[in-house]
Amino acid sequence: MVSLTIALPVLAIAGAILGFNFLRRHSPRPARPAHTAGARIVSEPVNTPTYADCGHCNRSFRYVLWHSGFSDSAYAYCDTCGMLALLDLWRVPESIRKRSPFGHGEIEQSAEEYLSSCSCGGHFKKGSSPRCPYCGESLSSDLMAGAIERNAPGTAKGWRWQRTWSGIYCIAVEDPDNPNTLRFLKDPWTST
Ligand SMILES: [Zn+2]
Ligand SMILES: [Zn+2]
Repeated sequence: MVSLTIALPVLAIAGAILGFNFLRRHSPRPARPAHTAGARIVSEPVNTPTYADCGHCNRSFRYVLWHSGFSDSAYAYCDTCGMLALLDLWRVPESIRKRSPFGHGEIEQSAEEYLSSCSCGGHFKKGSSPRCPYCGESLSSDLMAGAIERNAPGTAKGWRWQRTWSGIYCIAVEDPDNPNTLRFLKDPWTST
């Protein structure tokens, strides 16, 4: 989870809208050894019972949506396993910032070369999709709309899911080895 202190109030507001509690955190689990230099796979407890169905294998899994504007982050998904790479915009290495623009939301294609490979050997690329943690099939942003909107209290006030994997919201899904946690990769910058 992005941990910018200044972002917490707005995260709390976003959480109130979407029904997520960004501030109630448990002690972080030890990070797994990362395949990529400078990156760490985060395995973070998920506090909210937001479930969606795969649509392929019909298994349910927990997920959390993050608003990359509220959390000052950019993101990309692995083109092979679908894991989320979350990029803290306050921690873009200076040498990379000079060569590629980073803004809120999905990365630009020009930024791909500055991201390390995923722990599965895949690559974080613009246009990739998150995948089911159990069968590995790409998740449908349309098929998940029902669960996402049903799980978000803000829906009653007019909020609607973006129905794309390239909008302002990104999604982290549960770790199949430990379903009570989310699994994503944080700041997988290439060494420069
Ligand atoms: Zn991967
Ligand atoms: Zn599945």
